[in-house]
Amino acid sequence: MRILLVEDEPDLGEAIKRILTQKAYIVDWVQDGMEAGDYLENQWTQYTLVIFDWLLPGLSGIELCQKLRHQGSLIPLLILTAKDTEADKIMGLDAGADDYLVKPFGMGELLARLRALQRRSPQLQPQKLQVGNFILDYQLYTFSYQKSLIQPLTISLTNKEFQLLDYFLHHPN
Ligand code: CA
Repeated sequence: MRILLVEDEPDLGEAIKRILTQKAYIVDWVQDGMEAGDYLENQWTQYTLVIFDWLLPGLSGIELCQKLRHQGSLIPLLILTAKDTEADKIMGLDAGADDYLVKPFGMGELLARLRALQRRSPQLQPQKLQVGNFILDYQLYTFSYQKSLIQPLTISLTNKEFQLLDYFLHHPN
C-alpha cells in the first residue's frame, strides 16, 4: 500500500515515515500542500491513502482535502492536527476527510486508524500489480514470474525487496 504523507514538521514526518516503512507501507513524504497536489496528480504514483497535516505551507490540509473531493477523488484522507475543538473536527470532516487524529498521538493509534481506513475502502486496495510476466501480490507480499504453460515461480519478499519491486514495476523503464 502506497501512502502520501504531507507533514511539514520534520521530526514528526520522519518518525511517521519510519514507523510506516517498518510496517511495509510505501511512503512518499512531502512537506508542502502544493507539492502534495502535484504528487497526487502525477500519473506514475498511485496512492491508496493520504495522511496530511492541517497547517501546511503552500496549500492547507483543508484546502487540499476540498480540492481532492471537488475533483471527485474518493481516496481515503486522514488529517493530523493539534486543532482539537469540536468545531475544528467538524470543519475537517466536512471538508472531506475520512478520519481525524489529534496531536500528540501514539503511533499505535495511527496504525490502527490506517487499518480501519483500509478495511472501509477495499475497492481502493490494489490486490496485485502485473507488468508483463511479473506479478507483485500486495496481500501475500510475493513476487511471481509467469511463463506460459509453466507453473509460476513465486518467491516471498522482505519489506525492502517488496518496496523496491513495487517501485520498479511502477517505473518500468
Ligand atoms: Ca504543520
